[in-house]
Amino acid sequence: MDRFDPAKIAVPSTHFIGGRTVGGARETLDVRRPSDGAVYAALPLADADLVDQAVENAWRAFKESDWASRAPRDRARVLHRWADLVEADVATLAPLEAVGSTRPIQNATHWDVPFCAEGIRFFAEFADKCGGEVVPTQRDHLGMTVTEPYGVIGAIAPWNFPLVMASWKIAPALAAGNAVVLKPSEMTPFSIVRLAELAIAAGMPPGIFNIVQGDGRVGDALCRHPRVSKVTFTGSTRTGAAIMAACAESGTKPVTLELGGKSPQLVFADIADADKVARRVAQAIATNAGQVCVAGSRLIVQRTIADELIERIAGAFAELVPGPTWEPSTTLSPIISEREMKRIDGIVRTTVDQGGRILTGGRSVAENGGGAYYQPTILADVDMGMAAVRDEIFGPVLTVQTFDDEAEAMQLAAHPSYGLAAGVHTADINRALRLARGLEAGTVWINRYGRSWDFALPTGGYKRSGIGKDLGRYAYEANLRTKTVLIDFAADAA
Ligand code: NAD
Repeated sequence: MDRFDPAKIAVPSTHFIGGRTVGGARETLDVRRPSDGAVYAALPLADADLVDQAVENAWRAFKESDWASRAPRDRARVLHRWADLVEADVATLAPLEAVGSTRPIQNATHWDVPFCAEGIRFFAEFADKCGGEVVPTQRDHLGMTVTEPYGVIGAIAPWNFPLVMASWKIAPALAAGNAVVLKPSEMTPFSIVRLAELAIAAGMPPGIFNIVQGDGRVGDALCRHPRVSKVTFTGSTRTGAAIMAACAESGTKPVTLELGGKSPQLVFADIADADKVARRVAQAIATNAGQVCVAGSRLIVQRTIADELIERIAGAFAELVPGPTWEPSTTLSPIISEREMKRIDGIVRTTVDQGGRILTGGRSVAENGGGAYYQPTILADVDMGMAAVRDEIFGPVLTVQTFDDEAEAMQLAAHPSYGLAAGVHTADINRALRLARGLEAGTVWINRYGRSWDFALPTGGYKRSGIGKDLGRYAYEANLRTKTVLIDFAADAA
């Protein structure tokens, strides 16, 4: 995709309710482009009435349309058509995704949009393949389970991969026959509206997929609405806890929570190709400028190869090109906002005050055209007592700790609260498997990091990194309730 002109992108700054865009609001929020800090749209903020209207619309569509009751294969057909339309719309969707987010146009074109379409297809295929089961019971009884959609599912999404993260929430919920009310992040609210329009074009009944815009207050109102039966959320651990509390208080509603992480990358001296591993380690923290839940933010490397590996990682960082998301040459994303960049820099400064050492990076990029860009950074002489090692930074900052043997590596890798992902780089398959079983993380990548997403493999965290899974069969089934039906068919039963 060529360079695009950000001023020429028409953004649908609206809600989407009952199958159409809904504008107008008493309160609006300025939305800025991370690439240059410019305000480029005013987002209407939903009030309690509008949240109610969206949920009631969803409820009515769930009850009155045949979305839940039609043959699952027919529901799947709509989702497949939707995915085709999303893919065919890449020339509109990719710039729309890129303009207000941290996703460079090349990534949006070749990853975010097609990945979003493929996710919809993946979940469509479950619609007629997952049901209940017949359960052995007394001879003249038939015991079975049937699965049923919840009704209205509330979905709340983050800003770091706006289309993809939202699609992981909404596609399985819709495929399972639910209606959905989505609240995108107030920082990246627009591309998903285009996706909703395409759902209608594909034949989805109006009201089955709705969007309400706003900040955390709107998300809270959505969670607490009495007609919302389940909430699925991706975002920070702190917000996840607030959502869980809101769901508990408003009806003991089930939640799926995909939360934060502080994931280690373990590198052993037996690796065959140091350059390749260094590039993978660099990519695992520099992708989207580290604004990735599974960012491999803690390098734990065997002492004998540490200096060489760090030098190569710094070399890979130096090749990255910071720039606005509309430039095809950009390979280092902006930070989502100036405020977030200052927070990241604050952690780096504090680490230095505490005795940490900057090996490379450690500042904002000077020539930034008004945007917020941070140099990929490596911090040494650190420990778990420091925020840089303990807390999710959500920026391109890699801490380095060294070890002498496997036991020490495992000790350093353990995190007191997060358990989202981990990576192991080693040529020793026995060690790799031992560590994969020993590491407390929802995903362990061996000799790969982050790039092996496969829709069929569930992703989600241990400990404070989450509850439940996105992707895989698990994610589909989490959008269904199970009912037991027991039939007595003995001659004298009725
Ligand atoms: P965030 O928690 O600040 O916001 C996420 C969403 O929650 C936004 O839409 C926000 O408006 C909404 N929200 C805020 N307060 C709320 C409340 N009280 N009730 C209901 N909704 C509320 O997260 P973020 O900054 O948008 O995203 C970054 C975070 O997301 C990081 O911690 C990252 O690790 C995490 N994340 C996790 C995964 C995963 O799969 N585990 C994937 C992507 C991002």
